[in-house]
Amino acid sequence: MLSWQQAREAVIELVRARGRRPGREWVRLGRALGRVLAEPVSADRDLPPFPRSIRDGFALRAADTNPIPSEFQIVAEIKAGGSYDGAIGHRQAARIMTGAPVPAGADAVVMVEHTREISPSRVAVDRAARPGDHIVPQGAEARAGQKLLEPGRRIGFSELALLAQVGAERVRVFRQPRVALLTTGDEIVPAGAPVGPFQVRDTNGVSLAAQVALAGALVIALSPAADDSQALSDRIREGLQADLLVLSGGVSKGKYDLVEGALRGLGAELHFDEIAIRPGRPAVFGWCAGKPVFGLPGNPVSTMVTFELLVVPAIDLLAGAEPRSLPLIAARLDAPLEEKEGLTHFLPARVEWTPKGAAARPIPWRGSGDVAGMAQANGFLLVPADRPRWTRGEMIDVLPRRDLL
Ligand code: AMP
Ligand code: MG
Repeated sequence: MLSWQQAREAVIELVRARGRRPGREWVRLGRALGRVLAEPVSADRDLPPFPRSIRDGFALRAADTNPIPSEFQIVAEIKAGGSYDGAIGHRQAARIMTGAPVPAGADAVVMVEHTREISPSRVAVDRAARPGDHIVPQGAEARAGQKLLEPGRRIGFSELALLAQVGAERVRVFRQPRVALLTTGDEIVPAGAPVGPFQVRDTNGVSLAAQVALAGALVIALSPAADDSQALSDRIREGLQADLLVLSGGVSKGKYDLVEGALRGLGAELHFDEIAIRPGRPAVFGWCAGKPVFGLPGNPVSTMVTFELLVVPAIDLLAGAEPRSLPLIAARLDAPLEEKEGLTHFLPARVEWTPKGAAARPIPWRGSGDVAGMAQANGFLLVPADRPRWTRGEMIDVLPRRDLL
């Protein structure tokens, strides 16, 4: 049985080797958040485009501040957005604001706090300046034409700021992968529909759609399939029109767990059908009609965990990005733990960030069907397969929920 790391690596390796490269499209900057760059981004001009003062004060020649204090003639006032055509001469200064261009001749800015105005045209400087003080030279952040972002980079708020800074109005991004979702089970009814006493509302369709959207892909929700081989095959075929297919349920060893059989019947190559984790052990991954297919276990928490571990990196690759690493953090354990050896456990947990670091405590729960317990958690404690016993106060890995970070 593969460990979760081996299973994840197998997914990454196969999708990298065989997954289709995404197409490209233009989007307006305001709609580019979370998308993946399909083209490099370069500076359209020097950054900053002029030597920029980063303080309010006086621009002058540093050498003239020796001895201290010394007096300067104020020859100009330069606001952000303005400029001064002249040059600063011996014992001259320009009053300058943060973000304004430092005039020719000046090589330092003295902060206004270290000056005294003697008259509207004279200022005394109380602190010696060194050349370069409080000035960012032209082109120090980037030279015109310099490449600043590579294709494959996911666009977050700082990338958006940079795109705006280089004058991009639109940005060329990869198309988002389309992820088909297929929930299975005779007992499952769509959330919101009337539910019989022994029926179960579809929660996986809803949580998976959220996880797909968070991962940056487009959801194609198929209508749920009953536990019937023919119905399953038909719906799977439909799902294979998308770039990736995720099924939930029907992958255990029960008589009505028909997903693996249906996939095989359609010629799928299955790479694993079990991994050494709890919850989520019967997770299936394969390749069918040129597309990656996941059969995730139906218990809602199993579905959530296996999606994060296995499906997110596949989506990243199909989106034109590198797979994100799992954002594991070390947290101090607030309660002792004892789990079954041989499986890595992902226990719903509450993580709190304190001034002394992260602390985590397991949430009482009734196993992988416990959606109410899971909703109390904002992450998972990761109890490794070879280390089943933990005492309070030890540092343990935690996987925070991405939607709450
Ligand atoms: P299965 O993996 O099909 O054996 O299902 C395991 C458990 O998860 C059963 O109790 C199912 O009723 C439940 N389950 C399966 N699919 C869903 C779903 N879409 N929403 C909520 N619960 C589900
Ligand atoms: Mg089922």
